[in-house]
Amino acid sequence: MKTLLISAVCIGTAIAAANGDKLSLVGGTVINPANGKTIPNAIVTIDGDTIQDIGTASEAASGGRSIDCKGKFILPGYFDTHVHFFQSADLFTRPDGVDLNAIRPYRDEVAWVKSHVDDVFLRYLRCGITSVVDVGGPFWNFEVRKHANETAKAPRVAVAGPLISSVSREKLDLGDPPIVKIDTPDQAREFVRKLAGQKPDLVKIWYIVDNDHPVDSFRPIVRATIEESHSHGIRVAVHATELETARAAVEEGADVLVHSVVDKEVDEPFVRLLKDKKTILCPTLVVFERYGRVFANKLNLTPEEKAWGNPEVIGTLDVTKIPSDKLPDRIKSALADPAKTLDTIKTTYDVALKNLKKLEDNGVTIAAGTDAGNIGTIHGPALFREFQLMKEAGLTPMQILQCATANGARLFGGDIGARTGSIEKGKLADIVILNSNPADDIGHASDIDSVIKNGIVYPAKSILP
Ligand SMILES: [Zn+2]
Repeated sequence: MKTLLISAVCIGTAIAAANGDKLSLVGGTVINPANGKTIPNAIVTIDGDTIQDIGTASEAASGGRSIDCKGKFILPGYFDTHVHFFQSADLFTRPDGVDLNAIRPYRDEVAWVKSHVDDVFLRYLRCGITSVVDVGGPFWNFEVRKHANETAKAPRVAVAGPLISSVSREKLDLGDPPIVKIDTPDQAREFVRKLAGQKPDLVKIWYIVDNDHPVDSFRPIVRATIEESHSHGIRVAVHATELETARAAVEEGADVLVHSVVDKEVDEPFVRLLKDKKTILCPTLVVFERYGRVFANKLNLTPEEKAWGNPEVIGTLDVTKIPSDKLPDRIKSALADPAKTLDTIKTTYDVALKNLKKLEDNGVTIAAGTDAGNIGTIHGPALFREFQLMKEAGLTPMQILQCATANGARLFGGDIGARTGSIEKGKLADIVILNSNPADDIGHASDIDSVIKNGIVYPAKSILP
């Protein structure tokens, strides 16, 4: 039995388990967050793009090449189940929130975003994120998914098209708007039929509630959207951050809630509703701090974000570089009273973190996601800040890893979702190899040695330019 030992780190280029060419990961500890089980001294055999077998290293490797994984930890690739490719995370990416067209026209921002899709793909891969879900953007999103499917060095991508919304956002409309205001149930059905032609992985509803848009006024549109989507076999994801909005959405049949409830503590009937309906909730904790922290000049990027985030994007996030006469009021007031901004974030977290713990403890399916692409929420490494916040909420490392793997795969859905999220025979070979044990400390989740996507091994340090 010939076994050729190769160190993935040393060779510096990708290794593929080509057709009929087996690849074995030898001697590492396999961690399957889906069931919390670990297999020490394991041998994972990969054939092409598929995990062929998992045994113990005492059994002889069955030919092909192998990678020595002694002392390392082998996990399913991570999922970020809430991202937006149409947003860069820079300061100019949401002119509907802060209009800085005078500094950088939104048209230029969109052109930059479109020319940096491959860069965003690499940043996800560098972070061990082998699958992402884009929960809303222009019709251009469907091209991003197609491009990802044709690109080896890219995460798997599931997408929703334009958001069906209770409010309009004209400043984002350059001809292919990410957000579309829908006024009647018939309009909603018609728009869903148009979306269905693109085979979206999800239909997204932006259920924005304020004094002018009470919960009940938009509810018939939510109902029609969900009915029509389900009739086409498409699941529906809903933005609903208040308890009563979220409750209405789930009662109408929402399959996914894309954020935490942040206005009040979730109650028992709500928890039971989510469990009964098998609704998946994605907390997106990190995004709740990042707008405010950027505007107040109190940004707290993690070392991972500084190292693996796009430097051009990060460079724009210093609001003190903007001439003061060009600062929008929202940034001006945050800068004038940063303590107030930080206090608002704390108030949000007091509710959101408590809600996450309650939902997790009661067996609701939680999928990890960041809302990356929004101002200050960095594509790729924002997931590690999300992990920190999930830990602050009281989740164990294994629970957090389950949210970022097996539960992520459930949210991703479809054939790919069914074939990812765990290290099991027959699953796709999307794997993260870590240098230290994330079950001891979730901080180790970013201590990445190499990433395997679709059976191809990339030493982590070789991924970014
Ligand atoms: Zn979002």
